[in-house]
Amino acid sequence: MAQVDLEKVTKVYDNKVVAVKEATLTVQDKEFVVLLGPSGCGKTTTLRMIAGLEEITSGTIKIDGKVVNDVEPKDRDIAMVFQNYALYPHMTVYENMAFGLKLRKFPKDEIERRVKEAAKILGIEQLLDRKPRQLSGGQRQRVAVGRAIVRNPKVFLFDEPLSNLDAKLRVQMKSELKKLHHRLNATIVYVTHDQVEAMTMANKIVVMKDGIIQQIGSPNEIYNMPANMFVAGFIGSPAMNFINATLVAENGGIWVKTTGFKVKVVKEHEQTLEKWIDKEVVFGIRPENIFDKLFAMAPQPENTIQGTVDVVEPLGSETLLHVTAGEDSLVAKVDPRTKAQEGEKIDLVFDMNTIHVFDKETQQAII
Ligand code: ATP
Repeated sequence: MAQVDLEKVTKVYDNKVVAVKEATLTVQDKEFVVLLGPSGCGKTTTLRMIAGLEEITSGTIKIDGKVVNDVEPKDRDIAMVFQNYALYPHMTVYENMAFGLKLRKFPKDEIERRVKEAAKILGIEQLLDRKPRQLSGGQRQRVAVGRAIVRNPKVFLFDEPLSNLDAKLRVQMKSELKKLHHRLNATIVYVTHDQVEAMTMANKIVVMKDGIIQQIGSPNEIYNMPANMFVAGFIGSPAMNFINATLVAENGGIWVKTTGFKVKVVKEHEQTLEKWIDKEVVFGIRPENIFDKLFAMAPQPENTIQGTVDVVEPLGSETLLHVTAGEDSLVAKVDPRTKAQEGEKIDLVFDMNTIHVFDKETQQAII
């Protein structure tokens, strides 16, 4: 068992910088939890507080039900892999991996068994005699992970471990870390600002902004049911379109009205949206939920809008269209067979089942 609980954990640096504010979060046994957010949102501080490298200002951190606020890092049974790997340059790969066990006075043959097993899992058996400078970035990254594995800790903490790798290696290491999670049956807390990394690896994503947890949920929940405009805009690429709108009741339905178009909300959402009629809201739709009418499944007058194409960006597997309708700008990710031409009109179809409506004032999601 290795469960980590944070209860109203706050970190204030130098009596003034509130890096993390009342973070409450449970990392279940064997869960892969990703802390996600822009630079400076408090992810690393949260991770370092779990590791015991940073004192907490208030709140409680528990590991397996036991309060560890005052437990030394070395006694927390946690291994951390840092962004820069922090390998000892003068030691071989073997020595780097064995170091923590030696410090803890493990017998020599046990150290050897563990290092060899970890090296095998990571495919670095042939590198054990090399020094870090003789390794590629990806190999160094594996050694850093290996050093954590040999300790067989209750919890692994990763701080942006892939950010120093090139794009191709990052994709490869991403799936390796995911496999490793299954293989080790480990509890992992992983920090990144990369939403694709978070979506592909996590069982659970914790989205943070300005030291405050915005939402906790599965990748699916975070993508499909963002709690507010920040989460909605942070997840997904290109980002969700946000358009100022008013909800109006007309022809026996509720419509989203903007300066450039009017579309009808689906029946299921009517009840929730009723109290927002005639109020200002923000309408949200992801680029991937907007279709070129020529390739749309069910175009209807009430889910189709007309706009002018400003830019056509072919990406191969899909094409991005930047479109203006009235004073509204939006991006659509459409079928690459589109005939859209810059400067010409286009009919776009919205998947109204996937739309979002936000309170303009609080930015919280209404649907
Ligand atoms: P990044 O992705 O850039 O690493 P992060 O989300 O991990 O960012 P933190 O490193 O946790 O963010 O920092 C959160 C806030 O706390 C920031 O405003 C940062 O400037 C501040 N901060 C971090 N460490 C210290 C420190 N030792 N002293 C004072 N302020 C700090």
